[in-house]
Amino acid sequence: MSGLVPVGGYLPVSFIDWTGHVAPVLFLCGCNFRCPYCHNADLVLKTEGDLCLEQILEDIKSRNPFLDGVVVSGGEPAIHEGLPAFLSEIRGVTGLDTKLDTNGSRPSMLRSLIGEGLVDAVSLDVKAPWRDYPRLVKGDGMKVMESLELLKSSGISFETRTTYVPDLMDMADLREIRNQIGAEAIWVIQPFRPGKTLDGSLVNGTAPDPGDLRILFPDSIVR
Ligand code: SF4
Repeated sequence: MSGLVPVGGYLPVSFIDWTGHVAPVLFLCGCNFRCPYCHNADLVLKTEGDLCLEQILEDIKSRNPFLDGVVVSGGEPAIHEGLPAFLSEIRGVTGLDTKLDTNGSRPSMLRSLIGEGLVDAVSLDVKAPWRDYPRLVKGDGMKVMESLELLKSSGISFETRTTYVPDLMDMADLREIRNQIGAEAIWVIQPFRPGKTLDGSLVNGTAPDPGDLRILFPDSIVR
């Protein structure tokens, strides 16, 4: 089982990473994007996992009655070819549902996971207006759009998430992101928090006021 994917972090229980669920979170190493505001620089730049998956899954299994599911996050989990086998292992050993956090850059992987019934819910990052992806991250917005359309047509439970970074984007960008996501989709705005960022120039960056965002985007969830 070890070696399917590099596991670089483990949170035994979380109440906020899957709405309505009590769930542990597994963090996989590596990411193909380089969001300047990323808080997980250590994980993103790491290639080798240093945690024992067998022990983690046994721990989760032993707490099954008190848990609602397992969240697989990153880094970017979908860059790993072993992800389908990994999710299958999690479900098999723990008997719990799974949620995937993804930047949406690999719609082909997402399609396989949904097709094989390996994920029960997805959180999809929408980083920017589609055309602005190359300005903000090392990624192709068209691929993320494809992932969004796939989720919409799949019937699977999903939410979209945007980190709002005032030094990199403005209200017009947020409005455009809302339009491209569509009014029917759940949209979570995550206010940027300075302090620890992949790009050091944002360490003291501007933190937005969550209250302002709630007023300006009442159809979003700000958290
Ligand atoms: S914020 Fe997410 S997608 Fe961006 S670099 Fe960090 S882990 Fe990757």
